[in-house]
Amino acid sequence: MAKLKTQAELRKILTDEQFNVTQNAGTESPHSHKYNQQFSLGTYHCICCDTALFLSDTKFDASCGWPSFFATVGDNVVKEIEDLSYLNRPRTEIRCANCDAHLGHVFPDGPPPTGLRYCLNGSALNFTPNS
Ligand SMILES: [Zn+2]
Repeated sequence: MAKLKTQAELRKILTDEQFNVTQNAGTESPHSHKYNQQFSLGTYHCICCDTALFLSDTKFDASCGWPSFFATVGDNVVKEIEDLSYLNRPRTEIRCANCDAHLGHVFPDGPPPTGLRYCLNGSALNFTPNS
């Protein structure tokens, strides 16, 4: 498992937006990230610790403006946290299980077979194309 980087190290390697999203649970503007409409084959890794999180096979166009997936690459690669920041609309936040980086949220309105929609910030991800 990759060694975790300090906040000072992350400051140096991440853009301001990548840092704000992953470390301060920020949200990038909808339709702003190139990964939103990217469907080439490959693996999406955590931008902070490089853990593989999602495969292009599970990516779908949710028309919500953010990269969306219906499954993670495996069990326990992300952790779920109850997010009550919108009082009348509780959400489930997802974080990288390895380094605790904020990734986005998961909603129960995705397509089969899981019925889940992992709604992610492209800024939290790093795409590696299949070779
Ligand atoms: Zn991570």
